[in-house]
Amino acid sequence: MTTRRDVRCDVVVIGAGAAGMMCAATAGLRGRRVLLIEHYPVLGEKIRISGGGRCNFTNVNAGPGNFLSQNPDFCKSALARYTPRDFVALMERYRIGYHEKKLGQLFCDDTARDLIAMLKAECDRGHVLWRMPCPVDGIAHEGAVWRIATPMGAVRADSVVIATGGLTVPKIGATPFGYRIAEQFGLAVVAPSPALVPLALPPDALLRYGDLAGVAVDVEVTCGEGRFRENLLFTHRGLSGPAILQISSYWNGKAPLSIDVLPGIDAETFLGGERTSPARLDNVLARRLPQRFAQAWCAARESMLPMKQFSERRLRDIAAQLQNWALLPSGTLGYNKAEVTLGGVDTRGLSSKSMAATNVPGLHFIGEVVDVTGWLGGYNFQWAWSSGHAAGMHA
Ligand SMILES: Cc1cc2nc3c(=O)[nH]c(=O)nc-3n(C[C@H](O)[C@H](O)[C@H](O)COP(=O)(O)OP(=O)(O)OC[C@H]3O[C@@H](n4cnc5c(N)ncnc54)[C@H](O)[C@@H]3O)c2cc1C
Repeated sequence: MTTRRDVRCDVVVIGAGAAGMMCAATAGLRGRRVLLIEHYPVLGEKIRISGGGRCNFTNVNAGPGNFLSQNPDFCKSALARYTPRDFVALMERYRIGYHEKKLGQLFCDDTARDLIAMLKAECDRGHVLWRMPCPVDGIAHEGAVWRIATPMGAVRADSVVIATGGLTVPKIGATPFGYRIAEQFGLAVVAPSPALVPLALPPDALLRYGDLAGVAVDVEVTCGEGRFRENLLFTHRGLSGPAILQISSYWNGKAPLSIDVLPGIDAETFLGGERTSPARLDNVLARRLPQRFAQAWCAARESMLPMKQFSERRLRDIAAQLQNWALLPSGTLGYNKAEVTLGGVDTRGLSSKSMAATNVPGLHFIGEVVDVTGWLGGYNFQWAWSSGHAAGMHA
């Protein structure tokens, strides 16, 4: 049974995910009286399931170029004030082991639970008060004071920080709460959509490539401003793997992806060197590509023929297609399978230093709810730490 009790504090943080805990601890350690409200009964679930249970908690190379936003410069200030090095120093203070997997991606040696415990301990050091599990019924601005209504009683505070994240994985607590609050107080919201998400293929493409589920191909994939060299993984429903997750954030739902399945190789020269060979095209390609993929790709073009049967022109055409395979997905697998939400609270209405709404004193937005979306590889947690710290220093 819950008891209703009204309280007064300096800062209320709503959402005890990565950004919310970082913000609450930072503000608490500055001597602010902080209350953290979380509606989900288990703390840090998204951190726990991230990075295969080891949480890819930052990327040593994180910089503004690794983020998508309608306002690309917005993230610069927070990222510069609280860097991957700062978070690593915190991990080291708590003696949590970590290692670099690839491309600057840092993971916990043991389990993401260590990181959750560290954030909780930092909140304890900052004497943060908790209401959890506890939903928020509504927020109102009464003069200079914020009033947050909850079933456990009202909270009054000078500042309120919205750290309720995006829409991914609703079964562990995601809600559109942050967007609704932004709209309530007149802030614009860039339409959210799933990102870092597997892509579905239409039935005709699935017929050709669906049997390849589990096959990975090293590709360079391009779409809009995005270009990534990583693995593409075929699945029963379409495409996944790091290359696809990365490019999904740049896919507008209409334009085909351009896939180079022989990155770093001049396909025309490679195939030209085999022009008189009796070997079949798919077998020649299988020297550089997984055999099953080479077969499916050639079968789709009725090209499982000996090399010497191709005209020079046809071979040039095949080489061009290998380096620019245009593939149009039919959609994404949605918020249940996405790692992040693209879009969110429009940063043009926020201060990059404090994350506060420019026209609504004392209302801050941090983490994924904001229109700043990182690449795959630890960037999204770094944004949570950096933006959480920025608000925690000012709220
Ligand atoms: C499967 C998966 C794996 C991932 N792996 C990585 C990774 O390895 N590296 C990386 O950088 N990023 C990863 N991400 C992305 C990363 O988890 C998020 O970007 C990050 O957690 C965002 O932090 P946040 O604090 O803004 O939001 P969240 O972590 O989503 O926290 C928001 C909190 O607010 C609470 N909340 C929501 N609505 C309300 C409400 N109305 N009232 C009260 N509380 C509310 C939620 O329950 C939640 O606890 C992964 C995401 C997923 C889904």
